[in-house]
Amino acid sequence: HAKADGRKRERFFANEMEAQMQLRHALEADLRAAVEKEEFELHYQPLYDLTQRRICGFEALIRWNHPVRGRVPPMDFIPLAEEVGLVVDIGRWVLRRACDDAAQWPEGIKVAVNVSAIQFSSSDLTRDVSEALAAATLSPSRLELEITESVLMENLSEVLPILHALKERGIHISMDDFGTGYSSLSYLSSFPFDKIKIDKSFVNDIVDNKEAHAIMHAIILLGDALGMRVTVEGVETAEQLALLECEECDEIQGYHISPPRPAREVPHLLSLPPKNGGVTRLPKAKR
Ligand code: C2E
Ligand code: MG
Ligand code: MG
Ligand code: MG
Repeated sequence: HAKADGRKRERFFANEMEAQMQLRHALEADLRAAVEKEEFELHYQPLYDLTQRRICGFEALIRWNHPVRGRVPPMDFIPLAEEVGLVVDIGRWVLRRACDDAAQWPEGIKVAVNVSAIQFSSSDLTRDVSEALAAATLSPSRLELEITESVLMENLSEVLPILHALKERGIHISMDDFGTGYSSLSYLSSFPFDKIKIDKSFVNDIVDNKEAHAIMHAIILLGDALGMRVTVEGVETAEQLALLECEECDEIQGYHISPPRPAREVPHLLSLPPKNGGVTRLPKAKR
């Protein structure tokens, strides 16, 4: 009865797919309504300067508070929002809110905003950014845009001029999740990023595994040699922080400093005592 089993399995997968489709449609309808119902919220995660031993900025991370499903993580709706084009409206909202929030923070504190590939191809990103900055009266130098390699990959010839225009206005551009794409190195030389953010998958074993440490060391040196600021994401322990203090790493981000928190907690985060692994470093310029 292998055949019968096979048919049963096929039916199971067909039902499963049908259910998936329905869930998607429901989610898409909810997502459309969410923009108007203001169900989104931004949480902020500190970017911690290792040399100055202080928070130097925050990354804005979107949260969707669904009335029935509860909190839906970005990975469960951003890809869908990209597919159906809603990420343009959502992205505009994120830019506005992030700039408004950052305008309340001390002068030296930047805000980093994630930008999706769709925002480059189906909207006037430069205009949206300018409008958000103007509405908040925030200096362009306090805004960083984070883009992943896949953004560049989608359409290099379309994206590059936009990145250059943004950079000319004084906005900083970071390459996010560095090392996860398949041709990271060639992209590094096609655009002068201000910063690379080394993906958290590279930090996991750096304390216990020599090879993992060596790879981290090499990526940090590469970014440094190219004159880019280097951030390591996903730092969860004091041991990882101590190790990164010994490297040319400029900045870290991760649960060890703080998880993403609601905007109202930013002043509290800024008031916390510095964290360090006990390694004293000279500022880069003086070495
Ligand atoms: P990302 O830009 O790489 O953001 C970092 C993610 O790592 C965040 O997940 C953050 O909560 C998580 N993280 C931070 N520190 C640690 C740590 O120490 N350990 C671990 N395991 N994780 C840590 P989150 O908030 O779930 O966001 C996931 C992704 O969703 C982001 O990755 C970004 O690609 C996307 N995303 C978030 N907000 C937006 C947005 O406003 N617009 C767009 N287009 N994408 C967004
Ligand atoms: Mg990011
Ligand atoms: Mg990242
Ligand atoms: Mg990442």
